[in-house]
Amino acid sequence: MRGQMMDDALTITSIMDFADRVFPNTEIVSVTADNPRHRSNFAEAFARSRKLANALTKLGLQAGDRLATLAWNDYRHFELYYGISCSGYVCHTINPRLFPEQITYIANHAEDQWVFVDVAFVPLLEQVQDQLETVKGFVVLTSAEHMPKTTLKNVHCYETLIADQPDTFAWPELDENSACALCYTSGTTGNPKGVLYSHRSTVLHCMGTNQSSSLSLSASDSVMPVVPMFHVNAWGVVYNAAATGAKLVFPGPKMGDGETLASLVNEEQVDFAMGVPTVWLALVNYLKESGTRVDSLQRVIVGGAACPESLMRAMDEFDVAMQVGWGMTEMSPLGTYNTLLPWMNDLPDDEKMVYRLKAGRLIYGVKMRIVDEEGNELPWDGKASGRLQVRGPWVCKSYYKLEDSDAHLPDGWFDTGDVATIDKYGYMAITDRTKDVIKSGGEWISSIDVENAAMGHEDVQEAAVIGVPHPKWTERPLLVVVKRPGTDPSKEELLGFLEGKIAKWWIPEDCVFVEQIPHTATGKVSKKDLRAEFSSYTY
Ligand code: AMP
Repeated sequence: MRGQMMDDALTITSIMDFADRVFPNTEIVSVTADNPRHRSNFAEAFARSRKLANALTKLGLQAGDRLATLAWNDYRHFELYYGISCSGYVCHTINPRLFPEQITYIANHAEDQWVFVDVAFVPLLEQVQDQLETVKGFVVLTSAEHMPKTTLKNVHCYETLIADQPDTFAWPELDENSACALCYTSGTTGNPKGVLYSHRSTVLHCMGTNQSSSLSLSASDSVMPVVPMFHVNAWGVVYNAAATGAKLVFPGPKMGDGETLASLVNEEQVDFAMGVPTVWLALVNYLKESGTRVDSLQRVIVGGAACPESLMRAMDEFDVAMQVGWGMTEMSPLGTYNTLLPWMNDLPDDEKMVYRLKAGRLIYGVKMRIVDEEGNELPWDGKASGRLQVRGPWVCKSYYKLEDSDAHLPDGWFDTGDVATIDKYGYMAITDRTKDVIKSGGEWISSIDVENAAMGHEDVQEAAVIGVPHPKWTERPLLVVVKRPGTDPSKEELLGFLEGKIAKWWIPEDCVFVEQIPHTATGKVSKKDLRAEFSSYTY
């Protein structure tokens, strides 16, 4: 017997319509390149999304077309999120910190039709525009008076493009399983891979992560996403805020600037903020140096990388509760969230800290398990450590245009590439990584690409790159080299050799020479053994 309830589609349009009707006056405050404090609200932003939708229909697009953004967190990017996805196109957020070859690869692989770009990234696109195979034109996210001189072909100014459009638009009825957004991740081996979210997965993620042991946002909150909107939809908060009426405070290009973050918190009474450890370190350093306080700030989610204990303790001194979240681009992104069970609050400080630093408990909607190398499930005893696998309606089934590859899905579970323990209370803790990548300041560095570049030097017999702890960036690459017999290159020479071959921020700070690099039985470099060998090395 089938249930008899309505089959209303779970679409981003439903989130937008809800916020427009129920929370029209909820504020959106943004720092942009042309305005240090732009103020608008949901009603205004959605009216502008409708103008944008009208403008998009004139560009001759097909349903499902990918429209790329290269932009910081601000109100225009917010309008693009809704205007593009609710029109039936796919909002493809590109990470502008990638180097030009990667951006070209990603835009071509996605077959992007148009690119919406912040003024700051116009020079980057000018460099690569001739290699963009499917892009028909560019829209610069600014007003006519701030429009830069540019060699970009077929270029529009965003404000001019939408200015004369009507602010009414009949949004199409969308299939909830249709694609709404695309985000490439470099957190896997090989070329960046596209994760294609659906309207349904996005709405379910929004509902799931708004539960009370997770983000639990409400209309009383003022939320500052310091996690970029080009990184998994700013962890989904752009939708969560609209679904709950929470005020949004966007730091624009000032994400890493402790002073701006502190001012925004104090001016806009921000009580909840989200970001990777590196940005919270910048905030804490500024607070300490300047003697500033951020009294409205109650909670901060720290995710994307492990939270150092020293950072959590430093935030405690400012009465800001750091809550660890774990997830990944392939999971929309949230899978676990750390809030303490009531009895844990009475534990002595050091014991409590052990739980607080873990990645947290599952959010209802996601399932997880840890398995050994043969795929046998391991116990939740806090000791057994194994490959962490997940499944759920907001976990990716396959990568975009790699539908035939199910390597990540042994018997229907997605292999995260993380290694973890899970204790008897359900708290998961990441202990290692099987994927050969390094996370620095919240963004991925491919060890393999750095190794290949280093191997190009004639005096290098073998090169391996591992991540080692770094006080500011959480992790930085270390280059380990076996010299070719009879040669004696210096580390300065080898590091200098990498310049221009990989992104500048991918170049390791240090290079160490060894007699040999450990290998596995199958002859591959054993990163596990190499990391163990350099376990006491820190930057
Ligand atoms: P991304 O897809 O770029 O969001 O990166 C996801 C990956 O970041 C995960 O698979 C982990 O390796 C790492 N990560 C995310 N959150 C945490 C956390 N709380 N602790 C440790 N590693 C994390």
